[in-house]
Amino acid sequence: MDPAERKMQFLFALRSRGVTDNAVLEAMEKIDRGPFVRGHFASRAYEDMPLPIACGQTISQPSVVGLMTQALKVSNRDKVLEVGTGSGYQAAVLSQLARRVYTVDRHRRLVREAKEVFAAMDLGNITAFTADGSRGLPDQAPFDRILVTAAAEDPPGPLLAQLKTGGIMVLPVGQSDTVQRLIRVTRTEEGFDYDELRPVRFVPLLEGLGKDT
Ligand code: SAH
Repeated sequence: MDPAERKMQFLFALRSRGVTDNAVLEAMEKIDRGPFVRGHFASRAYEDMPLPIACGQTISQPSVVGLMTQALKVSNRDKVLEVGTGSGYQAAVLSQLARRVYTVDRHRRLVREAKEVFAAMDLGNITAFTADGSRGLPDQAPFDRILVTAAAEDPPGPLLAQLKTGGIMVLPVGQSDTVQRLIRVTRTEEGFDYDELRPVRFVPLLEGLGKDT
């Protein structure tokens, strides 16, 4: 399939699964998923499915990336924290919509490889760190938006604390081996509002750093 047709099909799959926000679709049209999928599965990068990446992790399904990004309502004034860099694809999509993106992963190797792709694509507004993201990133807090791409049983306290008033956090919650719920948390003057978006399935949010570090 030629690249133009492949891109058409990719965008069609996103739309048909509910990604309707034009700014999000444009960002996903610009960011080529190919370089974020290395090795054996590279040829399947344009299919709407999650794929294995290094360290036993997965790059999310493109339509899920689109739906989460859409739910986050990012503007170009926002400072965003992503927990769970993985391949770096989600951070790259966010970089097109936000002022600045901080992304953290507990696996040093994933952060190193994602940084290589960010540099090759000239995505200068992303900063990637190896860190336990369940504690957030106190040095850079507070954030306008937080996106968590690994599932916790409940929203981690430090992340709630690092969200600005008016800020939004989108994350999957629930037991890791069952279906989880994607939820959106909005911080108001009075506290936190929660809304439930859809069932999803993510790898677990684990504490501490990965073994490869
Ligand atoms: N957003 C990624 C997919 C993430 S897969 C992408 O676009 O490709 C989930 C990632 O969360 C994994 O890479 C895993 O290592 C990471 N992770 C799990 N627990 C974490 C924690 N406490 N802190 C930081 N990263 C974590």
